[in-house]
This record gives sequence, C-alpha cells and structure tokens, in this order.
Amino acid sequence: MENDCWGLVKSHLEATLGNDAFSNWIEPLDYKGLNSGTAQFDAPTKFIGNWVRRSYGNRMRELFLEYGAHVDRIEFSVPESKPTRAVKNAPVGTVGNTATTHTRGDLEKLPGSVLDPRFTFDRFVVGKPNELAFAAAKRVADSSAVGFNPLFLYGGVGLGKTHLMQSIVWEIRRSRPEARVIYLSAEQFMHRFVQALRRNDTMSFKEMFRSIDVLMVDDVQFIAGKNSTQQEFFDTFNALIDQNKQIVISADRAPGDIEIEERITSRLQWGMVVDVHPADYELRLGIIQAKAELQREFYPEVVIMPGVLEFLAQRISQNVRVLEGSLTRLFAFGSLAGKPVSIEMAQECLSDILRASDRKVTIDEIIRKVATYYNLKVNDILSARRARAIARPRQVGMYLAKKLTQKSLPEIGRRFGGRDHTTVMHAVKKIDELKATDSSIEEDIELLRRSLEA
Ligand code: ADP
Ligand code: MG
Repeated sequence: MENDCWGLVKSHLEATLGNDAFSNWIEPLDYKGLNSGTAQFDAPTKFIGNWVRRSYGNRMRELFLEYGAHVDRIEFSVPESKPTRAVKNAPVGTVGNTATTHTRGDLEKLPGSVLDPRFTFDRFVVGKPNELAFAAAKRVADSSAVGFNPLFLYGGVGLGKTHLMQSIVWEIRRSRPEARVIYLSAEQFMHRFVQALRRNDTMSFKEMFRSIDVLMVDDVQFIAGKNSTQQEFFDTFNALIDQNKQIVISADRAPGDIEIEERITSRLQWGMVVDVHPADYELRLGIIQAKAELQREFYPEVVIMPGVLEFLAQRISQNVRVLEGSLTRLFAFGSLAGKPVSIEMAQECLSDILRASDRKVTIDEIIRKVATYYNLKVNDILSARRARAIARPRQVGMYLAKKLTQKSLPEIGRRFGGRDHTTVMHAVKKIDELKATDSSIEEDIELLRRSLEA
C-alpha cells in the first residue's frame, strides 16, 4: 500500500520537477517504507540525502499526504554495503574523494571516484576562456569513435576541469550505458596500484585497467615523482591507446611542466591539449548568475539587490570555486538577515574572501602594460627623456602605481627609473587634474586599470 503511494508521489515529482532534477535527485532514492510517520529512504550519498531533504522534503511530505499517507518525517540513510540494485545514471558510493566501487547493473565492479551530480554539461557555463575545453570535452563524450586521444585538459585550480571531466562521464553513462568508464584521480590510481602491489595482485589490476573503454584520470600532476606508479600509469596508458580506447587527462599545469618522465609527457601531448583559461569578468558573471538561480531554489525568500552579483564577479576573479562559495555564504547570510542583500552587506559578510582575492598588481606589470598601451618600450618609460609622448605615459604609470599598489612614493620613484618621490607626487596630482578635464586620459586610465585588475 505504502509503496504504491510512493509510486504516486514519485510520478508526481517526475512530472513536475523536470528531467534533470528528477534523475539527479529522486531516481537514485530507494524507498524503504513508512514507519510510524517516517518515510525512510536509502540515498546513494549523504549529500544527495541532504539535498533532497532541503529542496524537496516539504513538497514530498505534502504529496504523501495528498495521496493518503500521513508522513511527519522523511529520513535518508546511506546503506553500509553498496546497493546491488543498479541505479541507472546515478552515482553510487560515499561522498568524498575516497576510492569506491561503482556497482552498475551487470557491469563488473570498476574502481573510481564518486561523481558529483551537479557536474554536468548543462550546468557548465561556457565563455571565451573555456569554450575550447568545453567543445573538446563534448566531442569526446558524444562520439563513440575515438577522436583526440588523449584529451588533455589543463588549467589552474577551480577553473572547472573536474566539472568537465565528470560531465563527460555522466554523458557517456547516459548515451552509452554499456561503455566501461573509469574516472579517478591520479592519487586514487596510485593508491589502487600500491594496494595491488601489496596484495601481490598486480595482474588483476592490469587486467582491469586494460579492459575498459574510457579512462579518465583527474589531477595527473599527483603522479609526479612516484616511480613505479608512473611506470604503471604509462603502461596502462599505452595499452589503452594501442587498443584505440579513449583517454582523458586533467592537470593543473601544462604537460611539459609536470615532473614526470619526458617520454611520458611527450606521449601525453599526442592528442589534443587544451588550456582552460581563467574566467574573465563576463564568464564569471555568467557563472555566478547561473549559480544564483540554483541558490534561489534553497532560499526563495532571499533578495539580492541589483549590482551585487556584478560586484562579486568583479572582485573575486581568481577561482570559480571561491566565487561559488561566496555566493553560498551570501544567500545563507541573506536568509538570516531577513532583508535584501546590498553591496555593503556583501562587503561585510565576505570581507575575508574579498581581501584574500584582491589582486596584487605589481609595479613591473604596470610599467609593462603602460608601455604596450602607448606603444612605447619599457626602457622609454624608465628613461630620463622628457618628451611629452613619453613623459605623460610615465605619469600615468606612476599614478596607477600609487592607486593600485601599496607601494610608497619613494619606492615608486625608484622603480620608475630612479626618480625622486616628489616627481611621483607631482605625477599623481597632474593626472588627477587631467582626468577631470581630459576624457581621453580618463579613458586610458580606466582601460589600463581594468586590464591590470582583470
Ligand atoms: P578544477 O577541477 O579545475 O580545480 P572544478 O571543476 O572543481 O575546478 O570547479 C570548481 C567549482 O567551480 C565547481 O563547483 C564547478 O562547478 C564550478 N565551475 C567552474 N567552472 C565553471 C563553469 N564554467 N560553469 C559552471 N560552474 C563552474
Ligand atoms: Mg579538479
């Protein structure tokens, strides 16, 4: 009886939540039954359980009631032993980065990391800095024919490499459920290998890794320096490439900068090497707007005032993860504060993040940018020449150094070709005056400032 009722609730959710939300959150749940007012579910991970409780808990209770079951509480537990039931397209295992085993239908057990259900292509915001990486990842996910092999994605921390890697896995699971995909971090690969060595069972390790269709290794820079693991990785890599199996690798730096043997790095570059660039302002704004939409599901009552998202996108420029974290905090803050979140409130609540992500502009950078901007050489700026075409840009440089760095006037003078601090003071005053009267100077300053702070 009760099970029938869950069936109805579930169909209702399926019809109203939309495909993605339903298959990400509701489908993976395993209904255990109703026990004195508590509806009990097994969830594949704690994260999923918490998310469902938070986002859909009330709705689910109402629906149970609507369909005739009295439910006061909804409870999620994560089963100790992995469920044997195959959950299509859903992650199985525990939260975190521990190596776990996916049990997927009749496929044998494959090692790998737990996937984050949020890391899908449709949640990846594309802009100039990452469009190439996105297109390459999509291509690998979409075509059963092996395209570039390996695909090597690299870029700094928090720029979306793991998000893209996992999107590939989700997509392949969706479109080619029979494909055998392993996704793990280089550390897990190493861990597995060391375990196999210890158990004297490298044979089955080798066999398993050589029998898959797609191997994805995240953060391959961690393999650096571990000799036997490097060798094993290299052998696995070559065996799979020779069998025409797809390999996707990510790292936080270019292949040539990873401290592994050169024969390996050179082989890593055979396929397609794509650089994920830091997000520019536009992309950061796009990402933060998309993430704000998601936060609104949790905090429908929170109002973010116009300009706040722009402010964050402007000021938090290094790392999308930090940008995302600041938004989460802001919504929680707004919910507690119970009033619309203004820029001032954001500044207050995120002061630590804002301080840490303030870009440190250097004087060298300023000199270089100014020289390029005015079509001069760095040496012109540093020289003693006083021609207006050089002296004015030099003053602009000093002005920017004063405004954008913490350096003292004497220090700035020294760096601009050994000038006196009064010269710097004069330059700052002069440019301040000119800015008020000469719109082209004002525009120069604005463009330079923006490019320095980008
Ligand atoms: P990396 O592996 O490069 O260190 P991640 O893939 O873990 O970075 O990304 C960090 C966070 O930023 C994740 O929550 C991810 O979803 C988010 N993120 C990064 N780039 C994007 C993007 N283009 N669109 C949406 N979210 C992004
Ligand atoms: Mg990562």
